[in-house]
Amino acid sequence: MPINLRTPQAETRDQRLGTITQWDGRASQLAKDSAFTFGCGRDCGPGGKRLCELNSPYSQASMCAEQIAVTNATIIKDTVVIQHSPIGCASSQSFTSRYSRDLAARRGWKPEDPKSICTNLGEQDMVFGGVDRLAETIRDAYQRHKPRVIFVATSCATGIIGDDVDGTVRQLEDELGIPVVALHCEGFKSRHWSSGWDVIEHGILRRLVPDWTHEKNPDLLNVIHLGGPDVFTPLVGPLGLKVNLIMGGNSLERLADLSTAAATVTMCFVLSYLATGLEQEYGVPEIRAPLPYGQDATDNWLRDIARVTGRTHLVEAVIASERARIAPELERLRGLLKGKKGFVAAGAAFAHGLIADLRELGVTVDDAYSFHHDPSTDSRDPEQDSLGHLIQATGDIENFTVSPDQHFQTHAALKRSNPDFVICRHSGTTATLAGRLGIPVLPIFYSNDGLGYEGLLTIGRAILRVLPRRRFYEDVAAHSSFPYQKWWLEETNPYALDTAEAAE
Ligand code: SF4
Repeated sequence: MPINLRTPQAETRDQRLGTITQWDGRASQLAKDSAFTFGCGRDCGPGGKRLCELNSPYSQASMCAEQIAVTNATIIKDTVVIQHSPIGCASSQSFTSRYSRDLAARRGWKPEDPKSICTNLGEQDMVFGGVDRLAETIRDAYQRHKPRVIFVATSCATGIIGDDVDGTVRQLEDELGIPVVALHCEGFKSRHWSSGWDVIEHGILRRLVPDWTHEKNPDLLNVIHLGGPDVFTPLVGPLGLKVNLIMGGNSLERLADLSTAAATVTMCFVLSYLATGLEQEYGVPEIRAPLPYGQDATDNWLRDIARVTGRTHLVEAVIASERARIAPELERLRGLLKGKKGFVAAGAAFAHGLIADLRELGVTVDDAYSFHHDPSTDSRDPEQDSLGHLIQATGDIENFTVSPDQHFQTHAALKRSNPDFVICRHSGTTATLAGRLGIPVLPIFYSNDGLGYEGLLTIGRAILRVLPRRRFYEDVAAHSSFPYQKWWLEETNPYALDTAEAAE
C-alpha cells in the first residue's frame, strides 16, 4: 500500500509493515515467516506461517515513538519543537541536548542548545483540554526564538483527551506565517519506538519538501542516516556524486533539496519511509540494493547507485581500488579476530548489517538481539529483505532474539551466548548489562561506523580495542548484582516467561 501523505498522521509501522517486537528462534525461520506475512511473491516453501509474536508478561523499560520524533525534529536547524505533553515526556530533552552538542562537535557546527518547549499539561488541562495552552506556547516559541518552522509533537496525554492539535496548528500557521507542523507520535500508538522515524519523515515529506517543480540535480544523492559522521562522501564521491545528508541535524535547505536529487539511499531500511515517499511523490528513485555492510554488499550497492545515476562506467574502478586499499589491513584484522565470538544487539536492519561485518572479519556470530523486526519495508521490494540477504550470504543465526531492549531478556540472551564481546547500539541497556556480566562491550552510537569498505576496518579495529579490557569488566562484574531471583539469573531463554507458550 502506498504511503498516505494526505493525512497528518503517519500510519504506524505496526499497521503498515506488520512490525513485531517479541520473537526468539533461528533467524532463517523468522525470515521465512516474514516473507509469508505479506505474500511478497517469493517462494516461501512449505511450512510457512503468519508471523506471530511471543508474549512477554511485562515490560521492564523502553522508549517511545514520541522521543524519536521529538529528538530528530529538535536537531533540525532553525526550528523549535513544542512537546504538547506532561513534563515527564520532556525528560528525553536531556539526551537531545547532549546529542545535539556532540553532533555539532563532530560535524564542525557551532554548538547550540536545541530549542524545545513543553506545554507541561496538568490535571486541569486533562479535564478541560489543552489547546489554549498549546496556542499560547506556539506564540511564545515564535516570539522567543523567531524560528523558520515550529513542530508540535503530540503525546499519550493529548491523544487520550483528544485535543484538536491539527486545528490549532493550522490556525497558528495562518497567524504567524511560518510552517507549524504537527507530529502525531502518541507513545501508545505503536509498540515500537522506531515508528517515531516515520512520524518525523512524514512531517518532512508533507510540509518541508517543496511541492513545486525544482530543477533536478543529477549529481545529488540523498543519504538518509541515523546521525553521525559523513562516511558516505568518500564512498560515492569518486563516482562524481555529492551527498545530501538527511536526518541527524539537517538544515531546512537540505530538506528542500530532497526532491531534486538523482536518487536516495538509506543506511538502514528502518528509515526507508522517507526514501519510498520521495520516489512515490517526486520520482526520486530509491536505491534498493542490500545495505553496504561487507565488501560484496558494498560492491553491489555502489553498482546500483551507479546504474540509477548513470555512472556505470566509473564504478568498477572505484570498487577495485577500494578493495585493494583495505586488503592488507583486513587480512591483519581477520588474523587477530579469528576464533572470537561476538554478540550483536541493535535495531533490525542495522543489526543485520553489523552481523555481516563481523562475519566478514572472521568473527563467529551465533546469537543476536534485534530491538524490533519489520517483516517488510514500505517499498515491498524483496531486495530490501536484509535478514534474508544476510542468511543467504553468510549463513543462519542460531539464536535470534527480537526484544524491545528488555533488560531481563538481554540478561538471559547473554547468558545463553557467553560471547567474547558485545557490539551494540543503545549504550544504556545492553552495554551496561553486558559490562556487569563481565563481557567487553563495544557500544556504537553513530551507526555509520560499520558502513562500506572502511567500515569493516573501523569495526575490526574497535573490537581489538575493547577485547583487552576483559579484566576491567571482570572487576565490574565482581562488584555488580542484578535484581533477579536465582532461577532467572540462571535462565538462558529470554522468553521463558512467554505467556502464550505457557498457555498451550
Ligand atoms: S508520549 Fe506517552 S509513552 Fe512517550 S514518554 Fe510521553 S507518556 Fe510516555
